[in-house]
Amino acid sequence: MNNYEIVMGLEVHIELATRRKIFCRCKNTFAEAANTNVCPVCLGLPGALPVLNPEALSCAVRMGLALQGEINRNSRFDRKNYFYPDNATAYQITQFYEPILKGGQVEVQTENGETKVIRIHEMHMEDDAGKLTHDPEMQVSLVDFNRKGVPLLEIVTEPDFRNADEVIAFLEKIRMFALYLGISDGKLHEGSMRADVNLSLRKEGEETLGVRTEMKNLNSFASIRHAIAYEAERQAQVLNAGGRIRFETRRFDETSGTTKVMRTKEEVMDYRYFPEPDLLPVHLPEEYIRKMEEQMPEFPQAKGARYRREFGLTEEEAQILTRHPATASLFEETLQLWQAGKAGGPNTSDGNEGCSEGTEMKRRAKAVAARMCGDLMYLCREKKADPGQWKITPEALAELMQMQEAGAITAKTARDIFARMFDKNIEPMVYVNENHLLITKDEGALEAAVDAVLKTQEKSVSDYLSGKEKAAGHLLGCVMKETNGQADPAQARQLLLKKLAERKAGETT
Ligand SMILES: [Zn+2]
Repeated sequence: MNNYEIVMGLEVHIELATRRKIFCRCKNTFAEAANTNVCPVCLGLPGALPVLNPEALSCAVRMGLALQGEINRNSRFDRKNYFYPDNATAYQITQFYEPILKGGQVEVQTENGETKVIRIHEMHMEDDAGKLTHDPEMQVSLVDFNRKGVPLLEIVTEPDFRNADEVIAFLEKIRMFALYLGISDGKLHEGSMRADVNLSLRKEGEETLGVRTEMKNLNSFASIRHAIAYEAERQAQVLNAGGRIRFETRRFDETSGTTKVMRTKEEVMDYRYFPEPDLLPVHLPEEYIRKMEEQMPEFPQAKGARYRREFGLTEEEAQILTRHPATASLFEETLQLWQAGKAGGPNTSDGNEGCSEGTEMKRRAKAVAARMCGDLMYLCREKKADPGQWKITPEALAELMQMQEAGAITAKTARDIFARMFDKNIEPMVYVNENHLLITKDEGALEAAVDAVLKTQEKSVSDYLSGKEKAAGHLLGCVMKETNGQADPAQARQLLLKKLAERKAGETT
């Protein structure tokens, strides 16, 4: 293996989350009863005519802009002919001669922190095939055409990858683009993003490419890593033994961790590509491209830089908040509502006349970021939930932040309510009132609570009096508990220390 260099290129398929399929009006939904989202077009019945879904086109153009390639102003569709039982038309509509995107580039961060540019060869639009399920017990194969006609983007890279880390960094970046553009959830394990890896070896220093194999069925980053390691080693052994690599498609088997021949690779001519006669060429006027450019989202890098600049967040906070668009939008919308004074709860801005709006915003941004980077990320890990799979709304979070800032609830109460908000629709104000969690200023009740604690916690009291000042923390916790969290911690602390001092004075006299 040592004297070989691994050379890899990728073909990445992205299933688009459009409302309808690419060439017909069938719904594009996942996991419905078999063969319920079908029509004469996607079933390939004679005489049925396809029409391009404009939503799929806009997804393609925006992804093309993210990939920084040249959007083809005149693209066309072609037929790729092959028979397979999950494909009733006996051809796939794809783009072969004039794809929607030519060229492009994606920057990835390599392990040693450097930036590497991966060149894009092209990207085209096509329709997905149906799905076959094999039932060995019944000895039947079932076909479901719901997926037939689901819009796909296929991104083809140049052979620029040299190791698995680069491949994974690239796929993560493509997934981020898809998420931020809102065109797909990019989930590998659910098949909404699929990657085929073309791999060949060449002697160090050689220019010409070796014969490659194509690996399919890679549905996680872990299997991509394993498949690359296995296949590179296999090819090295063949070459070292004086053998030849055959141009073939291999399937990665997750259980054995090996790749097996699926079919010897077809040559392009086997598919007999020809222009699709039922669809018009796609002509894109300049205004259309401009409109799409205007709709481009702010991607994490730019967004993170803005968070640091405008809100004074740290690099780490900015990174966590921008990793997923759902996290970023919860952060931004919460802050906006809170700043606009739209959050419910007692208002505190009157008391802050001395501080400028900018400092107040930064302070609040820090507070929201802290809650999200800490508690929210913890809850996501704990509940194995993806960002956005929470019930927390910006309105509710802004209200909660406002109540805490106003000193209406304790920090602990705020954290408890936030944790509940994760999977329940909770209005913090209503919840606090119903559960009597508002901090009270009732001094009589507080004094009674302090006295009760001083009586029951004799050990801690005598510890404190003998100089162990840490015991005061425990006593304060008891007081908060005694008041059901409704005491103002600062006020409780003051009163507790006062009473302890009185005791001490009493003891020494
Ligand atoms: Zn259909």
